[in-house]
Amino acid sequence: MLLAVGFSGVCLSATLLGVWTSTRRDSFLLTWAFGVLLLVGHVLVYWNYVQAPSLPLLAGFVAFLAAGLAFLYGAARQFCSGQSPLRSSLLAGLTVFALEVPLLLAGYDGAAMMVENFGALTVLGLTAWVYFRHRSDAPIPMVALAAMYMACAVSFGLCGLMLVLNGRWTIGHAPQNWAEDLSIMVAVASMTGIGALSLALNQARNAARHRAASLRDPLTGAMNRRALFSRHGERSFGAYMAIAMFDLDHFKRINDTHGHATGDRVLFSFAEVARRHSRTNDDLIRLGGEEFALVMPRITEEQAQALVRLISEDFAATAMTTDLGPLSCTVSAGIGFGHAEGARLEEVLHKADAALYAAKRNGRNRIEYKNWRLVG
Ligand code: GH3
Ligand code: MG
Ligand code: MG
Repeated sequence: MLLAVGFSGVCLSATLLGVWTSTRRDSFLLTWAFGVLLLVGHVLVYWNYVQAPSLPLLAGFVAFLAAGLAFLYGAARQFCSGQSPLRSSLLAGLTVFALEVPLLLAGYDGAAMMVENFGALTVLGLTAWVYFRHRSDAPIPMVALAAMYMACAVSFGLCGLMLVLNGRWTIGHAPQNWAEDLSIMVAVASMTGIGALSLALNQARNAARHRAASLRDPLTGAMNRRALFSRHGERSFGAYMAIAMFDLDHFKRINDTHGHATGDRVLFSFAEVARRHSRTNDDLIRLGGEEFALVMPRITEEQAQALVRLISEDFAATAMTTDLGPLSCTVSAGIGFGHAEGARLEEVLHKADAALYAAKRNGRNRIEYKNWRLVG
């Protein structure tokens, strides 16, 4: 049974390593795989100790257990809050082991095993707590993961409790009781569950990251055109909804005079200004090139005009330093409004675009918001 636990641990560790090598990004998998390997080490040394008890083997298996569980704890912190796992792992592992060493040296193997079990209870309990605290990401799998770590923690606690009830500081061999048998069964069952859930959570998180990245413009951090249609494509734009369209004036000249990199800085600066003034529920979108849109829900026509004016004036007043001296840029804007019967996204965009075209034609650096009605 023990060897089976060890073998399944090796397989789990290899799976985690395999998944890590395919992306080489989720380094918590590496920490986790290392922790599981240390636990396999624990099982192998413990198996030898069961056959022929000796102090070095005892010291070996408690050290492997403390280190292995400490790395699982480090991996949990790394996964949940992105912290480096080394400090927490070393601190947890060394604390448990440091408590055991004097007892081992004094020959109190029973007492050392009590500390081993209560140490495991603490470190596994902390690991469960880390997952439980960060459950908002994916509540059901995270709570299930915390519950499995907690089950392991309790099973170690029971082993420790049996040793305490037995009341012998020195034993001379591996303890044998129902708690030890239960602990092995819980370890086998949880290892499979914890492995599968950890991988599934990692996959789900990566999928969410890719989804978010596919909806964002990397240069300005604004949403992209795809996000505009996926968030607002099916929406009905009522009377208190508006979309402003912005187009930077003579932007090509900036690129031609100052270079593309400075042009990029100007684009970023516009997005910054627009973000600074927009409200929590407004969506800033980079439609492409030097064109942006701002979707403004729950807003009156006057408020929308004031907001767009604020953005335009602040942007025009923003000067950036370049090799050729200070550089500023202006923007033209057109605002399209929804209406009481409910307008489709394309209709409001079309109105904003028509207003923007009028702003360009009427001399640039201005805002048009005449409520252009589509014919038909
Ligand atoms: P107008 O006032 O009529 O809008 O003139 P404009 O020069 O701003 O407009 P035009 O459409 O002629 O030029 C837009 C320029 O934007 C052309 C293109 O090279 C540049 N551009 C598009 N995307 C990017 C980008 O990501 N970075 C930089 N630096 N430039 C870009
Ligand atoms: Mg343009
Ligand atoms: Mg332009």
